[in-house]
Amino acid sequence: MNYKIGEVIRNNPILFDTYEMEIAGFTNATQGQFVNISTGDKSMLLRRPISISEVKDESIVIIYKVVGKGTEILASKKPGDVLDVLGPLGNGFPLVKNRKCVLVGGGIGVPPLVETAKKLKENGCEVNVVIGARNKELVILEDKLKEYGKVYVATDDGSYGMKGNVIDCIEQNQIDFDVLYACGPNIMLKFLDKKYYGVKEGYLSFEQRMACGVGICYGCILKPKENREAFLRVCKDGPVFELGVVKYE
Ligand SMILES: Cc1cc2nc3c(=O)[nH]c(=O)nc-3n(C[C@H](O)[C@H](O)[C@H](O)COP(=O)(O)OP(=O)(O)OC[C@H]3O[C@@H](n4cnc5c(N)ncnc54)[C@H](O)[C@@H]3O)c2cc1C
Repeated sequence: MNYKIGEVIRNNPILFDTYEMEIAGFTNATQGQFVNISTGDKSMLLRRPISISEVKDESIVIIYKVVGKGTEILASKKPGDVLDVLGPLGNGFPLVKNRKCVLVGGGIGVPPLVETAKKLKENGCEVNVVIGARNKELVILEDKLKEYGKVYVATDDGSYGMKGNVIDCIEQNQIDFDVLYACGPNIMLKFLDKKYYGVKEGYLSFEQRMACGVGICYGCILKPKENREAFLRVCKDGPVFELGVVKYE
């Protein structure tokens, strides 16, 4: 390959509102890290943070949902366009070896689980994945994740997989695990934290709205459970925190 760093290699819809983009470079990234992408639009000061879904030999893959102007601009990018991308950023998911793992993704929190599942499988772990979505149309990456382990789906309306939330899915399928990895809406992370803190080892990745992406502006802070004076910067100290660390509103 002879691409420039940040060059769009492909950018295709995988759902009506969700795109998969492969970007050249950033191959030193690890599972659970993210990149912060400038849309190139001068009226839009802030970069848009997107998780790294896969790390390839000479590129990374991101998967993003179009929710506003920034992601709309990203969706319009064509192969050969060169993006201003900052990264890889954040701490990422720590890896374990030879353990039973459950990876839980809610909505657009599923993409970072792909590289994580791949690495855990390479490390001799048993990989189970639970995908939570509002309905069948919004389930993403099921086939890709099946390459690395057993995949279960839970939908809010029961239109695919089991009807219920991700915790119902773990329990009803009696998924046996030692280590939890999760990414998704704060409410899902909150319930997983409440259920498994003190019971299992676990890591939660937060997709908090953020500004600078490099720990300077404190625009993405969460409060820690223990020290009331302190802040957790999702971009720099996270986006991954252990179970029991974050205090939820
Ligand atoms: C560490 C991190 C990783 C992320 N990874 C992904 C990913 O892999 N794929 C993906 O699709 N998105 C991801 N996001 C969310 C993504 O950054 C936002 O959806 C994007 O910045 C929206 O930009 P926009 O200009 O299109 O929308 P805006 O015009 O900025 O916002 C449109 C709507 O989306 C809401 N919104 C914007 N950002 C967020 C957010 N972080 N969480 C919840 N709601 C938000 C706004 O409140 C508003 O209602 C991630 C966010 C973080 C912080």
